[in-house]
Amino acid sequence: MDSCIFCNIAEGTVPVRKIYEDADMVAFYDAQPQAPVHSLVIPRRHIATIMETNEEDVELLGKLLFKAQQLAVELGCEEKGARFVINCKEYGGQTVDHLHIHILGGRPFDWPPG
Ligand code: AMP
Ligand code: ZN
Repeated sequence: MDSCIFCNIAEGTVPVRKIYEDADMVAFYDAQPQAPVHSLVIPRRHIATIMETNEEDVELLGKLLFKAQQLAVELGCEEKGARFVINCKEYGGQTVDHLHIHILGGRPFDWPPG
């Protein structure tokens, strides 16, 4: 989708600091980090939100989540832990309408969220 910033990142037309990529996904550093570790994992295919996924996406979703876990370890979050976040639509605070998993680490996070 031409107008989607994360599709453009996946296609390589918008430069980012990539951490990982394969046929299914791209991971890169968030442009406005909210923690010492803040990276995003996105599917290459445009999926607007987690609510738009269906049974056929189960394998892809598993791959995205497992890679997020592996990257969190690589980024030094194994001992203290991390926050894995998928914001969805207006109430979830989603600002980019292309599914993404935030990996947040390097500091503690509150619960419940505000
Ligand atoms: P969300 O609020 O869950 O939709 O998060 C979107 C995230 O994408 C935010 O943390 C932004 O800082 C990040 N973001 C938006 N544009 C870019 C970009 N061009 N490169 C890296 N991160 C971006
Ligand atoms: Zn997209």
